[in-house]
Amino acid sequence: MSTIAINIAKVGVRIREAAQASARQSATIGLLAVSKTKPAAAVRDAYAAGLSDFGENYLQEALDKQQLLNDLPLVWHFIGPIQSNKTKPIAEHFSWVHSVDRLKIAQRLSAQRPSDLPPLNICLQVNVSGEASKSGCAAEELPALAQAVTQLPNIRLRGLMTIPEPTEDVAAQHAAFARLRNLQDGLNAELNLGLDTLSMGMSHDLEAAIAEGATWVRIGTALFGARDYPST
Ligand SMILES: *Cc1c(COP(=O)(O)O)cnc(C)c1O
Repeated sequence: MSTIAINIAKVGVRIREAAQASARQSATIGLLAVSKTKPAAAVRDAYAAGLSDFGENYLQEALDKQQLLNDLPLVWHFIGPIQSNKTKPIAEHFSWVHSVDRLKIAQRLSAQRPSDLPPLNICLQVNVSGEASKSGCAAEELPALAQAVTQLPNIRLRGLMTIPEPTEDVAAQHAAFARLRNLQDGLNAELNLGLDTLSMGMSHDLEAAIAEGATWVRIGTALFGARDYPST
């Protein structure tokens, strides 16, 4: 078995055990392989070992990789910060965008989504840690943003995403992820949005995220090893 196949198996065990511990079906938890900084060959190996959904943060790097892998039926997710002058290629080349944090970006993605493609799946990125430096919209802005985004024609608001402040404190991990889930529950209850997606949990905190309801865990290091160059 390749290293990637072994790592996929290990992450699969972690996901299944975490699901079981919180009485969830592991089939409701998607494994999004975060391939940023990793070569196309690593994505190809991960596909051969059973993965189909890949997350990228840097547009040009993602487009280059997609080109090299266009013989494979991969599902691409954009998960990085979005500058408004980059929305067109994102709307054209991805199935999901997890990192929408303002209306202008959502409007541009909707306007630029090609009409022959299905609606772009969107998550709104929320800053649950409250640090001014972190990306994501503030919790107080979320209802108005969600309401406006659902009016746009060529995108489909699926749910929320967060990148909490990194911590080894398991209780703090749970608290951050629970906050995101509560925000989503609130939107569904008050605005009846039918959101079904919580994108939360990375290599070091996927157990806490699954316990709090994650439906996509975004895993880089635990699948592909340490990244080759700095990348936040
Ligand atoms: C890099 C990255 C990940 C993966 O992080 P790991 O700790 O390597 O699993 C997940 N989500 C986002 C948004 C990222 O930028």
